[in-house]
Amino acid sequence: MTSQPHASRSLPSSTITPNDTQTLLKRLWRTQVRQHSGLIVAVIVLTVLTASLTALYPLVIQRALDMFASRDSRILYQVPMLVVVITFAKALSQYAQTLATQGLVLLVIRGLQEQMFEHLITTDIAHVEREAPAKLAARFTTDVISIRDTMIRAVNSMGDVVTVVGLIVSMLYMDWELSLIAAILYPVAAVPIQRLGKRVRRASGGMQERVGETAAFLTESFAQARTVRVYRLEESERARAVLSFGHLYHAMLRITRGRAKVEPLLEALGGAAVAAVLGFAGWRAAMGGATLGDFSGFVAALLLASRPLRALGALNAALQEGLAGLARVFAVMDEPPAVTDSPHARPLPAGDGHLVFDNVGFVYSDGRVGLDHLSFDAQPGCTVALVGPSGGGKSTALSLVPRLHDVTSGRILLDGMDLRDVQLESLRGSMAYVSQDPLLFDLSVRENILIGRPGASEAEVAAAARAAAAERFILALPNGYDTVVGPGGQRLSGGQRQRVALARALLRNPRLLLLDEATSALDSENEALVQDALATLRKGRTTLVVAHRLSTVRSADMIVVMKDGHAVECGTHDTLIQQDGLYARLVRTQGLER
Ligand code: ADP
Ligand code: MG
Repeated sequence: MTSQPHASRSLPSSTITPNDTQTLLKRLWRTQVRQHSGLIVAVIVLTVLTASLTALYPLVIQRALDMFASRDSRILYQVPMLVVVITFAKALSQYAQTLATQGLVLLVIRGLQEQMFEHLITTDIAHVEREAPAKLAARFTTDVISIRDTMIRAVNSMGDVVTVVGLIVSMLYMDWELSLIAAILYPVAAVPIQRLGKRVRRASGGMQERVGETAAFLTESFAQARTVRVYRLEESERARAVLSFGHLYHAMLRITRGRAKVEPLLEALGGAAVAAVLGFAGWRAAMGGATLGDFSGFVAALLLASRPLRALGALNAALQEGLAGLARVFAVMDEPPAVTDSPHARPLPAGDGHLVFDNVGFVYSDGRVGLDHLSFDAQPGCTVALVGPSGGGKSTALSLVPRLHDVTSGRILLDGMDLRDVQLESLRGSMAYVSQDPLLFDLSVRENILIGRPGASEAEVAAAARAAAAERFILALPNGYDTVVGPGGQRLSGGQRQRVALARALLRNPRLLLLDEATSALDSENEALVQDALATLRKGRTTLVVAHRLSTVRSADMIVVMKDGHAVECGTHDTLIQQDGLYARLVRTQGLER
């Protein structure tokens, strides 16, 4: 509840150098854009076509006015037909251009999302758990949206360039002197625009971060809704919300201020340019110069050019937002996983599940010591109970066995092989894990059990459920095995969820069983059922259980008492009671539940 919005690590700040820009764009092109070659060609052709048709408008106006002035009768059919043809053609090609562009951009961002998820689903658990889930989700939503908007603008700016070039050609064709004046005036606008772009860029990175922080705050606050009410935390939550929304407000305001200036500034500068051109043209007309058609066509071209020119002027600022998002997305993908198959990794050989912790040390990435010289030997088929005060490293020890983390010193052996020499897939395939408060997937009960061994038969699922003492309650559910359990499994009670998780573990028939014993989820009737199920489950396989209950500990073949990351005592219940050390004290003071 105390975590304030904090700046997250390793995300690139809002400064993107031209060099980065090139690297980012090249990478995007190589990994996501290049393969859609058909669409790319379509986008280019249609964009150029649309832009060229726009550039034809002033020529039509010029022609119409010249015919008008000379009372040419062809104006009756030629001009309207020309207008209809050009506008219809432009409308059609613009429609197709929009579809092609959006189609391409949407494919690209879907590819980015898939690639990012692919990385996150396989990478180290430490990478995923370091950030609030909502902040990671923001990489898929807000960042991707800014990338999409930027890409669309980038494509359209290609059209804007063609339009402007076309219009300049028309202007030169109609009146080169006036064109020269316009050409001198337009670049004057470039300097203040550049300066504004920089400011927008600085502001935009900050805004994306704030959006992620706000989302993280909201997820946490709603997830804790019960605690908030019972502990009367409404005031402090409100204060946190005000702070979070305030940060977001200021970040958005900063970026809006920058953006809001760009367009009006360009408009005003454009107006000044038009005024100058008009003044010069008027002066020249008074001296008896160009035709009415030339002049009108020229002004039309000048006005038509101002929109794409403005868009191009604002492009840099817009690009920066998307590039900042792209940099963040790539940063997520780029963190190399530490837990991977080594080049000489082999499948786990057949064995009975002989697990040895040999002087194991583990330090978390923030420097906290999880384990410190932990050694014990779990003989095949035996149950080893890890007990001890909280913070002693029990959960850490359990998480090292499926290599959720790798040891920082020492080694863990399974059937004689160092875990780091075993292929991850076969290592994890050889074990089952039941967590303290198991969350289920929002699927049917049957599908949740089948996760243990996809493809198992109906009879095998039923047998597993029976052995886990879960069959009775499952059959009593409205749809039996096909009942969908709700998000996290919330339509089942804690004890029911745990038995479904046990059935899943049983179905897997693992060599090694990892259990984090629940203490609170079960009432006494359920507990007896779960204990029976556990006894069945443990038979014939090595079991490592983080134990909180005396009954579990007594039935274990060996007890490892852990404190400060290492084993302080080791033996059976009886020998440890005789030793009269930490374990005996835990039992006496009810540190272990009866
Ligand atoms: P136990 O399960 O025995 O209560 P843990 O294995 O959870 O103990 O914790 C052992 C030590 O490692 C504690 O000091 C704890 O603060 C630290 N620790 C546990 N998880 C993390 C983590 N994800 N990041 C940093 N430190 C951690
Ligand atoms: Mg723990």
